[in-house]
Amino acid sequence: MDVILETTIKCPFCGEEEMVMMPTDRCIRRYECRNCKAFLEPTDKDCCVFCSYAETKCPSKQKETAV
Ligand SMILES: [Zn+2]
Repeated sequence: MDVILETTIKCPFCGEEEMVMMPTDRCIRRYECRNCKAFLEPTDKDCCVFCSYAETKCPSKQKETAV
C-alpha cells in the first residue's frame, strides 16, 4: 500500500486549509496556522496534528491500519 505524504490540514479556529507534506520519520505535534497563527495540537487520542486536523492520517498511522 502506498503511503500518502501530502495532505490538507484544516485549522479548527479559522477554517484555513493548507497543503502540507507529512514527514515519515517523526510526528508533528505542533503546527502553526499560517492564517490566524494559532498553534494546533493533537487531541488526546491522536499521535500528531495530522491525525487530528488533516484529511489524511499520518504516515505511521496509515501503515498501522494497512496491516
Ligand atoms: Zn487558523
